[in-house]
Amino acid sequence: MVKNIAVIRGDGIGPEIVNEAIKVLDKVAELYGHTFNYTDVDMGGCAIDKWGDPLPEAELKKCTESDSVLLGAVGGDKWNDVPGNMRPEKGLLRLRAGMGVYSNNRPAKIWPQLAEASPLKRSIVDKGIDFIIVRELIGGIYFGEHKTEGDTATDVLTYNEAEIERIGRIGFETAQKRGKRLCSVEKSNVLDSSRLWKKVMHKLAEEYPDVELSDMLVDNCAMQIVKNPAQFDVVVTENMFGDILSDEASMITGSIGMIPSSSLGATACGLYEPIHGSAPDIAGKDIANPIGTILSAAMMLRFSFDMPQEADAIENAVWAYLDAGYRTADIMSDGKTLVGCSECGRLIAQKLKKE
Ligand code: NAD
Repeated sequence: MVKNIAVIRGDGIGPEIVNEAIKVLDKVAELYGHTFNYTDVDMGGCAIDKWGDPLPEAELKKCTESDSVLLGAVGGDKWNDVPGNMRPEKGLLRLRAGMGVYSNNRPAKIWPQLAEASPLKRSIVDKGIDFIIVRELIGGIYFGEHKTEGDTATDVLTYNEAEIERIGRIGFETAQKRGKRLCSVEKSNVLDSSRLWKKVMHKLAEEYPDVELSDMLVDNCAMQIVKNPAQFDVVVTENMFGDILSDEASMITGSIGMIPSSSLGATACGLYEPIHGSAPDIAGKDIANPIGTILSAAMMLRFSFDMPQEADAIENAVWAYLDAGYRTADIMSDGKTLVGCSECGRLIAQKLKKE
């Protein structure tokens, strides 16, 4: 198969981690006889430096015309003082909206080899951590009006029924393919938008009788994720709650560097990126963990290119790499072999076998 992939390396560690994912994709192409064509796209701080805009229209067009987009990360202190609508992260919001990817899927799964890297007590980790957060991605407070007048700043949070229903369906359908339990997270004791969210979820539940729906307030959910993560199968929530909860969920699995994500809308063209940021503190040192990006590439093969065996092959290669005792600095522990970012990518590509 021939697939055209738009590649956004971005800022900070972005270029380093994306290079390793491409190394692994190239090995997949070689083993399975595919052709992956890569088109470079400028987004984030590097695009501000080059074009004066975090995502020029022409760059966005390269993404919407591709079969899928692989992204590293954007942002950094260098661009802290640029005006709000020109910040690097604005490019990312524009990309998500421009691609119409309204559903962000972030797995929180502990690799048994990394149980020691979790900050949670072993008794909690041993009950198993394996859930998915389905986050609404192009609505809510991040996309509402933002304004500052004098000493008052305002951010507007709006959802309509259709926006809630389409993400709700993804939540129910994801649960149907897993443990058939869906936890809808909101703040309905305070927010109107959350009361509407809850109402729509319960109406949808009538169409999915095989899925058990539960409700949880977001503050309780933040607590339950560290107290008893084994209780969750699929969590569905709005944009900002999902942003915060998925970072929390990633941390209990050991390292933010391990977690991939997929963002999809109405078409097969998806956006695939690790959940972490551009980590300026470790950029250019060849010490970042590229596994979140490599696993994002695996998700791209599974969800956008219908290549489940190839995706399995990447995940098995990561498993073999961890089993062999290799660790980047963020997940290093006693008795393991410390490797850098590029060596990590090389070893995973080397361990890749045709399934
Ligand atoms: P961050 O995720 O970049 O870093 C948080 C911590 O995790 C840092 O200590 C970092 O070194 C570490 N870390 C992150 N990824 C790692 C990896 N792959 N391997 C090893 N360690 C890793 O979050 P931050 O510091 O809050 O943000 C830095 C910049 O990234 C900011 O400009 C922020 O706006 C931006 N950001 C971008 C995205 C994105 O592009 N999707 C997401 C979040 C933050």
